[in-house]
Amino acid sequence: METPGLDRGGEEQRHEALVDDLVARGELRTPAIVAAFREVPRHLFVPRALVDDAYHDHPLPIGAGQTISQPTVIALMTEALELRPTDRVLEIGTGSGYQAAILSRLVSQVFTVEVVPELGTAAARRLAGLGYANVEVRVGDGYQGWPQRAPFDRVIVTAAPQRVPAALVEQLAPGGILVAPIGAYYYQRLVRLRRTPLGVEEDFLADVVFVPMVHGVQ
Ligand code: SAH
Repeated sequence: METPGLDRGGEEQRHEALVDDLVARGELRTPAIVAAFREVPRHLFVPRALVDDAYHDHPLPIGAGQTISQPTVIALMTEALELRPTDRVLEIGTGSGYQAAILSRLVSQVFTVEVVPELGTAAARRLAGLGYANVEVRVGDGYQGWPQRAPFDRVIVTAAPQRVPAALVEQLAPGGILVAPIGAYYYQRLVRLRRTPLGVEEDFLADVVFVPMVHGVQ
C-alpha cells in the first residue's frame, strides 16, 4: 500500500520514538496493541499544518472545534478494553478516525459514529483510502448507539457525556466492556463498565479531559 507523505520529514523516527516512550512508561503493555500503535501512522490523521506535531504526546485540533486525543489516553483506553480478535467494537466520536484505525488492527469489526458530518465524511474517506476495510463510519448521534449493528462486545466513547448513555449499555453484549469519560465540561472520570450476569460493574481508570458529547440531530 502506498502511503502518501509517510516519511516527509522524519515521521518514521518520531513515530517509533513515541511508541517506545509509551512502552517505557508502561502505558502500552499488550504486544498486539504495541504493534497496532507502530502500524497506524498518526500524522496521516491530523491536519497537514500539524504533521510535525503528530508524534508529540498531546491532543491536537482536527477542525470543527474537535481534537484527536493524546496518545497516552488512547493507549490507556485501548488497553482497558481487553480486546479479543473476534470482537465487534462500537466507537462513539470518530473524530479523525485514528482511534478507529488502531482498533481495526486488533478486532474483527469497528463501527464508529460521528455527530459532525464533515468530520465523519472525512474520516470515512481517510480510513477507506488507507485500507482500513473493517471500519464502518456512520454520521449520527452517538447517544443512540448503533442499534442496527448491536450487540457490541466492546464500546469506547471518546467524547464525554454527563452520564453513561443508556442505549450504549443496552447495546453491550453479555460480558461486554464499555470505556467512557463521564462528567462535566473539561473534567471527567474515565470509567470501565462490565456487563455481568449480576448487573453492571464499574471501575475507575483515571481523571481525564475530553470534549463534551453533544446532543446532535439524527
Ligand atoms: N476518537 C477520535 C477523537 C474524538 S474527539 C479520534 O481518534 O480522532 C470527540 C469526537 O466526538 C468529536 O469528533 C465530536 O464531534 C464527537 N462527538 C461529540 N458528540 C457526539 C455525539 N453525540 N455522537 C457522536 N459523536 C460525537
